[in-house]
Amino acid sequence: MEIYQRIFEDTPDALLVVDQAGRIVLANIQAETLFGHARSQLIGHPVEMLIPTRFSQHSDHRARYMTEAHSRSMGGTTELFALRKDGSEFPVDIMLSPMTLQGQHFVLCVVRDITERKAAQDALAQQTMELRRLHAELELLANHDGLTGLYNWRAFYEYAGQMLKTAHRRQESATLLMLDLDHFKQINDRFGHAEGDRVLQAVAATLKATARENDIVARHGGEEFVVAALGLNEAESQIAAERLRAAVAAIENMKTPVTTSIGIATLAPQAGKHETARVLAELLDQADQALYAAKHHGRNQVCHFNRIVNLASPAA
Ligand code: GH3
Ligand code: MG
Ligand code: MG
Repeated sequence: MEIYQRIFEDTPDALLVVDQAGRIVLANIQAETLFGHARSQLIGHPVEMLIPTRFSQHSDHRARYMTEAHSRSMGGTTELFALRKDGSEFPVDIMLSPMTLQGQHFVLCVVRDITERKAAQDALAQQTMELRRLHAELELLANHDGLTGLYNWRAFYEYAGQMLKTAHRRQESATLLMLDLDHFKQINDRFGHAEGDRVLQAVAATLKATARENDIVARHGGEEFVVAALGLNEAESQIAAERLRAAVAAIENMKTPVTTSIGIATLAPQAGKHETARVLAELLDQADQALYAAKHHGRNQVCHFNRIVNLASPAA
């Protein structure tokens, strides 16, 4: 029998044997070390002395276990904690196994301190959260322009492409507006680059506030912006562009008035095959030509590609 005693004492886990009334009847050396109690302080005492008082339902669980005793880990998915003599708590894994000796029922409890494992898991969870946060931040940086907070060109290209696909599927029109601030270089030259940046930020905020919520508003680069809108026909897109133009011209608190020229291209509802990249490139090209015409005809105005008239004879 000595060998069984040695196994009980030398098992690397803390072992406790608990009787039907919940009293500890055996404890090994590891249990003494783990809980900080001498064996004499454990034996004959309720096992609840090793459990933080907030786990007050433990005695109910224990009583239920006694009626349906089978080997299982304790706690299921809940985190278990044990209590040392000095009142400190530590996380544990506990395996329970029923035993019957001379007609009496007992439970063998195998208790393992998982402080280190839990610390590693917590650190991993922390790192995962940090990675998720960094990922979201990177995604934001990859899609947005740092100065104005608007979508950048890359994001615009992707979202405008999706919008064109939607327009095609629903047989709706779509509109692309290209904006270029007028004589912006003069603002930089007269008031400095920082004031130029302030103007770009104010224009971006105005465009975002004036456009509809589902419109895609982006900074094309430099002092150029693009807006994509779903469901606007030619006449409606003129009105939307005019509203943006007027909103920019009405910006206050700048050192000099700011104006923008706007070129418009509209995609009419089309049946048949639809190559998004080609359609988007075509619309951008048309909006660019219309913008050029708006500049050519005196700036601070909108021009629709379908209405480009004789570029060779600009209005006064
Ligand atoms: P136009 O009416 O013909 O469009 O004249 P413009 O002066 O606006 O056009 P131009 O293309 O000559 O000048 C654009 C200027 O925008 C030149 C460049 O220095 C300035 N710019 C581009 N990006 C930025 C920026 O991020 N911040 C500032 N402050 N200026 C910028
Ligand atoms: Mg420009
Ligand atoms: Mg310009």
